[in-house]
Amino acid sequence: QSAALPNGAPKKNLVILGSGWGAVSVLKDVDTTQFNVVVVSPRNYFLFTPLLPSAPTGTVSLKSIVEPIRSIARRCAGEVLYFEAEATDVDPVKKTVTIKGTNAVSQDLNYDYLVFAVGAKPNTFGIPGVYENACFLKEIPDAEQVRNRLLNNIEKAANLPKDDPERKRLLNFVVVGGGPTGVEFAAELQDFVDQDLKKWYPKTAVDIKVSLVEAMPNILNMFNKKLIQYTQDVFAETKIDLKLQTAVKKVDSKVITAQIKEADGTVRTEEIPYGVLVWATGNGGRDVTIKLANKLDLTKQTFANRGLLIDEQYLKVLGDASDSIFAIGDCTLSRKFPPTAQVAHQEGEYLATLLNNLSKIDSLKWELTQTENAEAKANILSKIDRLSNFQPFVYNHQGALAYVGSDRAIADLSWGNWSKMSLSGSFTFLFWKSAMLNMGLSFRSRCLVALDWFKTSVFGRDASNNN
Ligand code: FAD
Ligand code: NAD
Repeated sequence: QSAALPNGAPKKNLVILGSGWGAVSVLKDVDTTQFNVVVVSPRNYFLFTPLLPSAPTGTVSLKSIVEPIRSIARRCAGEVLYFEAEATDVDPVKKTVTIKGTNAVSQDLNYDYLVFAVGAKPNTFGIPGVYENACFLKEIPDAEQVRNRLLNNIEKAANLPKDDPERKRLLNFVVVGGGPTGVEFAAELQDFVDQDLKKWYPKTAVDIKVSLVEAMPNILNMFNKKLIQYTQDVFAETKIDLKLQTAVKKVDSKVITAQIKEADGTVRTEEIPYGVLVWATGNGGRDVTIKLANKLDLTKQTFANRGLLIDEQYLKVLGDASDSIFAIGDCTLSRKFPPTAQVAHQEGEYLATLLNNLSKIDSLKWELTQTENAEAKANILSKIDRLSNFQPFVYNHQGALAYVGSDRAIADLSWGNWSKMSLSGSFTFLFWKSAMLNMGLSFRSRCLVALDWFKTSVFGRDASNNN
C-alpha cells in the first residue's frame, strides 16, 4: 500500500472489524484509495442472513447466500488487506487492535479510524444447558449443524417401533424464540416436513412435530396485530404447535423445562422432551465488544453489557476520547435503531461517506502545515469548515418482511413517515422473494438463489445427510 496521498499527505490507517452487513457496506462505499484499509474477520465471506432460515432445510444452498470477502475487496478501487482473524482487544488510548489469527498468533494493528462492526452472538440469558445442548441459527456452521441433527434424528426414528417414546422424542423439533428468526425457521421446517419428508419418509414424517416456544403473549412483536394473527392462523393450519407465554428456564440433553403462564395468572412448570432444539432468542454482546465497553466505562449504563453505546447522529462510540472509533450494526445498543440488516447496511453507507469526508479534512489539515501563505491558509480553512459540516445519520425504515410458511409471507411496509401498508399471503410471498433478490445479494448470488428456488419447486428439497 502506498503511504501517501497524491498531495503528499500521509494516508490514514482504516481498520474495519467484521465482514457482515455493516462492514461490507462500509467497504463498498468508502474511498479505499484514500486510506490504508485493513479488514479483520474470522469469517472470510459475507453472509446474507435473511435467507439463513431457508438453508438447514435445503430450500436454498449455503453456497448461494455467501460472498467471499476477497471478491468484494477486489472490486474496491484501492488495495484492501484482509486478515482471517478475530479482534480480541482494542486499546482506545494507544489506538491499536489486537487480533488473533487462525494459527492462534496474536498481533497488534495501529488504526487512525476503527470501524467496529463485529455483530452479536446468540443470547442465552444465562439459561442453564442452552450452550451445551441447543443449536443456534446465526452462522453457516449453525445451519449445517441443525440440518445434520434433523436428518440424523429422522433416520434413527425410522428404525424404532411406532409406539416407542424415544421415537416421539427424536421427532419433536422445538424452536425457542418467537421473533422473526424463530418464526421463519419453524415455517421452513414445517414446509420441509409437509412438502418433502412426507414423500421420502411417509411412515416417519407424519409423526414429526414442530413447536415454537415464546415467552411473551405474542410472536413477532415488531409486526402489527393483524399480521401477528395472520401468522398464528397459518401456524394453526400447518399444525405448527405454538406455545405462547412459555418461558424456557432450563435445558438438558433431552428435555426442556419451561414455565407456562396460564390465562388466570398462575404459573406451572412443564417438561418438554425434544429431539432437536433451535435457540433463537435474540442478540448478546460479543466478548471483544463487552471488553471495549468496559474500558470506555460504558457498562454502568443500562444494558451496556450487550453492546456499545454510540452517538446516534455520527455513529461514534461514546467514551472514546480520540473520537476515532465508530460502531455500527448489531454490536451497538440503540434506543432508535433495531438490530437489523437494514439498519447495519444504512449505517455502513453513511459511515463510508463520513470517512471519505474525514479523509479530505485530514489531507487539507496536512496541506495547512505545508504552506506559509496566508491566502492559501484561509482558503484551506474555509474548505475544512465546509467539509466539517456533516449531516447526521438518518435511518430510513422501509418496513419488515417475514416468511410464515406454505408459500405465504407478511409485510409491514412504510415509505418514510407518511405511508404504511400491511400485506399478507401468497402475493406477499412473491414480493418477499423479489425483496430477497434485491436486498444485498451479488448478481452471482441472485442467480444461484433463483436457481435454488426453481430446483426446490421442481425436484423438492434434498433429504440426504451429506454435508
Ligand atoms: P453481522 O452481519 O453478524 O456481521 C458481523 C461480522 O463480524 C461477521 O463477519 C463476523 O464473522 C465478524 N466478527 C465476529 N466476531 C469478530 C471479532 N472478534 N473480530 C472481527 N470480526 C468479528 N435483518 C433484516 O433486516 N432482515 C432480515 O430478513 C433478517 N433476517 C435475519 C435472519 C437471521 C437468521 C438472522 C440471524 C438475522 C437476520 N437479520 C435480518 C438481522 C441481521 O442479520 C443483522 O442485524 C445484521 O447481520 C447485523 O449486521 P452486522 O454487520 O452488525 O453483523
Ligand atoms: P428477537 O429478539 O426478535 O426475538 C426473540 C424472542 O425470543 C422474543 O420474542 C423473546 O420474547 C423470546 N424469548 C426470549 N427468551 C426466551 C425464553 N427463555 N423462552 C422463550 N422465549 C424467549 O430475536 P431474533 O428473531 O433472533 O431476531 C434478532 C434481530 O434480527 C431482530 O432485530 C429481528 O428484527 C432481526 N431479524 C429480522 C428478520 C426479518 O426481518 N425477517 C429475520 C430474522 C431476524
